[in-house]
Amino acid sequence: FPSKLPNVGTTIFTVMSSLAAQHNAINLGQGFPDYPMSEELVALVNEAMKNGYNQYVHMNGYIPLREALAEKVEYLYQAKINPDTQITITPGGTYALYTALTTILQPGDEVIVFEPAYDSYIPAIELNGAKAITIQLEFPTYAIDWTKVKNSITEKTKAIMINSPHNPTGSVLTKEDLDQLAAIVKDTRIIIISDEVYEHLIFDGLKHQSVLQHPELSGRSFVCFSFGKVYNCTGWKLGYCIASAYLMSEFRKVHQFNCFTCDTPKQVALATFIKQREHYLQLGAFLQQKRDHLQSLMKATKFKPIPSYGSYFQVYSYKDISEENEKDFAIRLTSEYGVATIPVSAFYQQETNHQVLRFCFSKKEETLSTAVERLTRL
Ligand code: PMP
Ligand code: GLN
Repeated sequence: FPSKLPNVGTTIFTVMSSLAAQHNAINLGQGFPDYPMSEELVALVNEAMKNGYNQYVHMNGYIPLREALAEKVEYLYQAKINPDTQITITPGGTYALYTALTTILQPGDEVIVFEPAYDSYIPAIELNGAKAITIQLEFPTYAIDWTKVKNSITEKTKAIMINSPHNPTGSVLTKEDLDQLAAIVKDTRIIIISDEVYEHLIFDGLKHQSVLQHPELSGRSFVCFSFGKVYNCTGWKLGYCIASAYLMSEFRKVHQFNCFTCDTPKQVALATFIKQREHYLQLGAFLQQKRDHLQSLMKATKFKPIPSYGSYFQVYSYKDISEENEKDFAIRLTSEYGVATIPVSAFYQQETNHQVLRFCFSKKEETLSTAVERLTRL
């Protein structure tokens, strides 16, 4: 049968993680922490299972968890969200994004996507019969040129996808960026899909700008989150989506026939645990320390940093080391030097070669030290 994704191979995360395993390399590629998650949260999951929370939970998510999330977004973003009609728990952030796209897209629709783009976005658009209209972020600031966005709008534009803090670059959107976006979509029916999975991972005193706190954007947005990023448990694959009651009612029509509902004991545990605000309030400072640690170690190498203000990631230029393209260089770093990274070119549809690699710094200090020690040999 004809492939639905003829131009797509295996995701770069799997490619680089497999290569890292094959060469016994340190994996600074795929974004996941190598330090443990909270023991207290693990104990709460065990307790939930012992207490019999092992059957299907409510289709839209465990009600006390949705209530706790509504409280959280009101506390953080002064947004009043109805937990009954506006929040759905999903099996991860990727699924939330995919479901939002499936909910709104008709064949022939256009979705504006900024590149480098997290690698699930464009295939998810195309699987829904729509077309991704890509706009490249400025290099090397990775900022959005809003004039380009304005000029890319057509009558077919159904949605614009944004992601802040940004994977793979660590750039963040400011209040002014959101104002510019709001001015562009005003008087249109364009929907915003906002990927905010790194909402807490923001550095240098910057504040995450959620579309939930933007009066003109919140009503037209699907906002996607991931518990994996907040509680150091990417393997849990649990997240949630927030939207207006109308958008969410359509989202749920899709969700109910795709996975119907998600893991019960983890939702029960999270409903209690997320009330402890310090766990997410200190996360930015914790990851900033890791970013700074990597940066100070990397001074001993010929790699040059491009500023990262959030996420798990820092982009480095290797211009002073090699002329190879990003993929070849990343493969050689893994196989010959024992350090896996991600070529940023993997997040563009068209061929690009800025000679930059993405490093994941959500790692133990010794992991980062050992990796960088290997890179000093270059
Ligand atoms: N969006 C971005 C930008 C991500 O980096 C990730 C993953 N890590 C996700 C979405 C998806 O998160 P999840 O693992 O919860 O599906
Ligand atoms: N989000 C993680 C990253 O960007 C990995 C997710 C995945 O492997 N699909 O590295």
